[in-house]
Order: sequence, then structure tokens, then C-alpha cells
Amino acid sequence: MSVNDTLALLGADATAFLARAGKLYINGAWVEAASGRHFEVIDPASGEVFAHVAEGGTADIDLAVEAARAAFDHGPWSSLSPMERSKLVWRLGDLIEKHADEIAQLEALDNGKPVSDARAGDVTFSYELFRYMAGWATKITGETIPLSSGAPVHAYTLREPVGVCGQIVPWNFSFMMTCWKVAPALAAGCTIVLKPAEQTPLTALRLAELVEEAGFPKGVFNVVNGPGETAGAALAAHPKVDKIAFTGSTEVGKLILDAAKGNLKKVSLELGGKSPMIVFEDADLEAAIPALAYGCFYNMGQTCTAGTRLYVHERIADRVLKGVAEFASGMKIGAGLDPATQIGPLVSAEQFERVAAYVAEGQREGATLYCGGNRVGDKGYFLEPTILSDTTAEMRVVREEIFGPVLVARSFGDDELDSIVDEANASIYGLAASVFTRDVSRAHKVAKRLKAGTIGVNTHHVIDPALPFGGFRQSGWGREQGYEAILLYTEVKSVGIQL
Ligand code: NAD
Repeated sequence: MSVNDTLALLGADATAFLARAGKLYINGAWVEAASGRHFEVIDPASGEVFAHVAEGGTADIDLAVEAARAAFDHGPWSSLSPMERSKLVWRLGDLIEKHADEIAQLEALDNGKPVSDARAGDVTFSYELFRYMAGWATKITGETIPLSSGAPVHAYTLREPVGVCGQIVPWNFSFMMTCWKVAPALAAGCTIVLKPAEQTPLTALRLAELVEEAGFPKGVFNVVNGPGETAGAALAAHPKVDKIAFTGSTEVGKLILDAAKGNLKKVSLELGGKSPMIVFEDADLEAAIPALAYGCFYNMGQTCTAGTRLYVHERIADRVLKGVAEFASGMKIGAGLDPATQIGPLVSAEQFERVAAYVAEGQREGATLYCGGNRVGDKGYFLEPTILSDTTAEMRVVREEIFGPVLVARSFGDDELDSIVDEANASIYGLAASVFTRDVSRAHKVAKRLKAGTIGVNTHHVIDPALPFGGFRQSGWGREQGYEAILLYTEVKSVGIQL
């Protein structure tokens, strides 16, 4: 399949967007990068270039931060009522829904993910999230606090927007990760400079068009595409940025922390994971098998919460592994833009090489290649869903985040019913985990013992705009979604009035 075959699958609106897209969005205007440079955007289904996008750097980040600073400090945005802000945020959600098919196609083109997943998952979640957060805009309150000393002071707190937010997002759910950050920040009254991932620069630019159409004042939302090492690093270090919100790898998360310390800007981090799924003997396997397959292979395993470590009771291990392998091999592999596709390509050549190297490394370490592991086709970055079984806790494929469609599995016996939870917890990460059992008491006990930000019982991926999402340990700092996200984008101020 060539890039022209891929582009032929795009609808008219997405095709028209591609023809006009490619600049940076700063202070309500579409501009070229100060350097005049552009970078290539590659179709993961063919490995061919289909667009060029302005490559922002330090100078562009400076301009965008100045615009966001001015909009926050003196712009009309700062004097909008909560109700006016709420209406704008809601309107943006409506516009995303109106253009949902187009955005899903652009996301599928850019990232390679199945367009049906992008439409039903990423984009639908995003517009519902804007509506959810629009509701909070009018409900951000402080408290009246009686002083413990009994002093004659009327004391209360105010909860105020944190200010100019730098937001840096990855490529795996580029539109949805953007919305996870943008929706609560706007609802709280902040202004934003967004730095999308180099691999997937497009849908953030479409979002900027919709922000403009919704009627947000200039400077409130700015998009600077560009490399992480230059544009991203400049944003994280910028002295006029009040908060940095980052989603990406744990490795880069630590660089963000270093960069942020100059002005001690607030930091929230959504980082990597290596999430376990534990299947006990009494699990309902008919329901569990597809849940396990989706738990790992959804979005080609390029999901931070992917259930990539499977621990399954030995008396059902054969049935479960066979079931998951059969389910996965029945998933249709193809270009993301083909509506029938269930497994698309990995996002880039680099990602493909990395994942394939892990599959080889796992076998060198002594794991069994239970199924998959092969490249599909001779163009693009397609890899079969893969299971490595008979793994041990020491193997790199068990300890490290692979970020591809690779499930590592081992069985456990009756003597390990308790210790298997400790093994599941033996990770530097703690983003998600799941347990499959019909025993309600065991489900609650294991859910309490698992060290992760989100636990699924008889399901793996549990996300909702109302549900706090984030990581224990090196999976991150802070929680997105729910009211917790509003807390991330606000500061508390105490006021005391001497009576
Ligand atoms: P990455 O860390 O390489 O890049 C993420 C973003 O950071 C990109 O925009 C990149 O340009 C930027 N960046 C890179 N170097 C930078 C630097 N020195 N300073 C500032 N910015 C820099 O991650 P990725 O490969 O794009 O995404 C995959 C990772 O993201 C995985 O580890 C995955 O688990 C994680 N992730 C986590 C969540 C979550 O919510 N916890 C969600 C999605 C993805």
C-alpha cells in the first residue's frame, strides 16, 4: 500500500485540512516557524512522507509563551465569568463532535491507529470530556475556614487558575492526550502553549482551528510543533510558564522535572507503565479472554495502561493463552484508515525496530515465542500481536515498557495465590492493573493490594472523564480527569480579614 492509497481513504474535510495545515498557531494567528524550517510527517502504513509541518524552536516557544502570558495577565480571557468560560469549553466540545469523523481520520492517518477506534474511543472521549469539564468551570470554589486559634479573623480560600500552562503530549493518543490537558486547563481559566509529539502534529492544529471557531480570545491556546529536545525543552524550562503538564516516557518525565526547577513551576506527569493482569482459576474466561486481548493489544499495545504482563493460574493457562492468541490472530491488520482495521501499524520505523528488538531479546532471555512476532507486509510498520510465555521476573521484557503489541505471560500455582500479587507489584511503574475472578472478596482484597492508579476487576482499561487517572511510583505525579484535574490547574489562596 502506498501513501496515495492511504490518502485516498481520507474524507473530503480531512483532505482539505491537509492542504491548508502546517503552520504554528501563536496568538490567534497562523505563522511559520522563526527558523523557516519544516519537518516531515510520515504515514505509518506506508512509511512515506505525506505532509510537512512548521518546526518550532526556542524562538517560537518564546512568542507563544508571551502570547499566553499576555492573555492570562491582561486579556479579556481573565475577566470572563465562569459561565462564559463554561459555555466556550462546551462549545469546543460540540465543535469536536461536529467534526469527529474528520478528526478521527486525521488521527488514524498520523498515528496509524484504526479509524474506528479513533472515532469511538479517542474523539468521542475527547468531546465528552470537554462537556464534563465545562460543568466544572462554574463550580470551582474555595472554603470558609474558622481559625483554630479563635482569633477574630474571617478566613477563606480562593481557588484560582494556576496561569500559563505548558503542555507536552505524546503520539500514542495525540488528540485525546491533548484534550485531557486542554479541557481542564481552559475550564479552570488558564492559558496554554501546547507542544504535540513530532510523529503526530496534525490533530492539535485542527483543534486550534476549532478553538478559534468556538470564540476563545487570542493567546489563550497556542500550538508549537517541534522536536522535544528543542521546543519541548524550551517550554519546560521557560521562566514565564507557571505549570508544565507532561505525558510521555518516564525517562523524559525526569528531564522535564530538571528543566522545571529553574522557576519551580508546578509539574504534573503522566508517564510509562508495565501493567499486570492477574487471572485466577475461577475467572469467567469467556468474558476475560477478549478483555485480556484488548487489555494488551488495543492501539497496538501503544497504550500507557496496556496490560502487558499476564499472570494466569496454571490450571487455566493453556485455555487462556490459546484463547488470547486466537482472538488476537483474528484481529484484522491493515492501514488505520481502513474502517475494517483492528490492528494498525506501529507509529514509526524507530518504534517498530524497538519493539521487534524486545521480541528477539525476550527469546534470547529464555521466553517462549507463543505466537506472533512477525512483520506483516514489506511496507509500513506492521507487527503481529505477540505473546511471549514462560517469562520470569528478571527478564527485561517483563521489567521494561515495550510499548508495542507484546504480551509477556507466566502461569502461577496454588502455592503462589498470595505472592503473585507481590510479583505483579514488583515494578518501577504503577499506572494500571487488573484482576479477573468471580470471587468478590478476592477481587476487593487484590484491588486494594495492587499498587497502581487504576484497577480493573474483570476488565482492564477503565477510563472516564469523571474518574481520576494517573500513576503510582514512576508512572507519574498528579491525577487527570475528574475534579482532580481541576486541582492540577488551580492554586489555593488563603485570605484573612481582621474583624
Ligand atoms: P516521549 O517521552 O519520547 O515524548 C513525549 C513528548 O515529550 C513528545 O512531545 C516529545 O517531543 C517530548 N519530549 C521529548 N524529549 C523532550 C525533552 N527533552 N524536553 C521536553 N519535551 C520532550 O514519549 P513518546 O514516545 O511520545 O510516548 C510514549 C510514552 O508515553 C510511553 O512511555 C507511554 O507510557 C507514555 N504515555 C503515558 C500516558 C499516561 O497517561 N501515563 C499516556 C500516554 C503515553
